[in-house]
This record gives sequence, structure tokens and C-alpha cells, in this order.
Amino acid sequence: MNFLEERIQRDGIVKEGNVLKVDSFLNHQMDIKLFKQMGEEWKRRFEGTYINKILTIEASGIGIACVASEYFDAPVVFAKKSQSINIDGDMYVAEVESFTHKCKNQVIVSKKFLGPDDHVLIIDDFLANGCALQGMISIIAQAGAVLEGIGIAIEKGFQSGGRTIRNLGYHLESLAIVDSMDAATGKINFRSQDESK
Ligand code: 5GP
Repeated sequence: MNFLEERIQRDGIVKEGNVLKVDSFLNHQMDIKLFKQMGEEWKRRFEGTYINKILTIEASGIGIACVASEYFDAPVVFAKKSQSINIDGDMYVAEVESFTHKCKNQVIVSKKFLGPDDHVLIIDDFLANGCALQGMISIIAQAGAVLEGIGIAIEKGFQSGGRTIRNLGYHLESLAIVDSMDAATGKINFRSQDESK
């Protein structure tokens, strides 16, 4: 098991409805030493790839993306959730359905901060059905930027997002992939990953 899998095993809580709660170290209280290890690991996995911008989505992606940005020496832009329908032409807009809150949000990124010269690494905390990622991918396409890779902390491998994104040919690196989890027993099984990759 790698450092993140060990931490999920120790402090993660499996909830009904396929939700893994990791708010004691990842998305409410945040363990910055762990975030640094994650940043280092993504840097290793994307070694040799030119990246000059990190894109994430509010709120829980922001902390991990900021720490990761230290290792890539690239600024972080976060897609903002917005209910507003009268968005002016200065924004890229995409629609994202929230897995945890079961609602639809528009996400926006200012055209000032993403454009054709950008080589983008997406960072996010979870990958479930992939809606958040698809929204960010759409924004990158609208900007004419290049999506160089996607770094996810926890992928729920039993939901469809990871497969879809890999089938589209993107370089996706999830630090922990949960293959199954059981709310009754609290048991979490991880997909084995080639550590030497
Ligand atoms: P997706 O768009 O891939 O279906 O879901 C991704 C987003 O939903 C993530 O950014 C994350 O905020 C949230 N999410 C999805 N599954 C979980 C989960 O099991 N636990 C937590 N804490 N958040 C989740």
C-alpha cells in the first residue's frame, strides 16, 4: 500500500451511497504534509511533461492543487461554481453535476487565466463519475489549451469516470484507486498499482 492508501485505510470512513469520507485529512481538515507527498508523487508520475498551469475546481481541489503547484512551479486556476445565468463573454463556462450534492452547477473560468499557450495539469480530490473532470476538460478545450495530464487523489474505480477518461486517451494518475468499499464493514479494497511506473 502506498502512503495515501494507508491513510485512507486508517482514517477514511465508508458511508452509505458510495461516499468515502476523508474530511479528517483531505477535504475539511487538511494534512499538508500528506499534500506535499501527493505533490511529489504527481511530479514523479508526470516527470518530463511540460506543465505551466494547474486547473482545479472549488472547493476541495484548491488545497491540494496549491501544494502541488510548488512542485510544478505553475500557478493554480480554480473553476468557480456559479449559479448565475447571466455570465458575460469573458468567461469559459461548463455544466457540472455534483456527485455529493446531487445538483447542477455552472463552473466558470475567466478567459484572462487560460488560453492557447497553456499546458494544463488538472488536479482534483476525487474521481467518481467524472462530471467534474468533463467540465474542466471542456473549459480547457474552449480555451484552446493543451491538457497534459490529470492528477487525482482518490479514484473510486467502481464508478465509471476513470474508465471513460482513460478510454479518451488522457494521462490519468490516481494516487489511490478504491476498487470496492463496504459501508457495513468499513472495508476498503485498493487496486494494485505498479509503484515503479
Ligand atoms: P464526479 O464529478 O467525478 O462524479 O465527482 C467528483 C467530485 O465529487 C469530487 O470533486 C468530489 O468533491 C466529489 N466526490 C465524489 N465522490 C466522493 C466521495 O466518495 N467522497 C467525497 N468526500 N467526495 C466525493
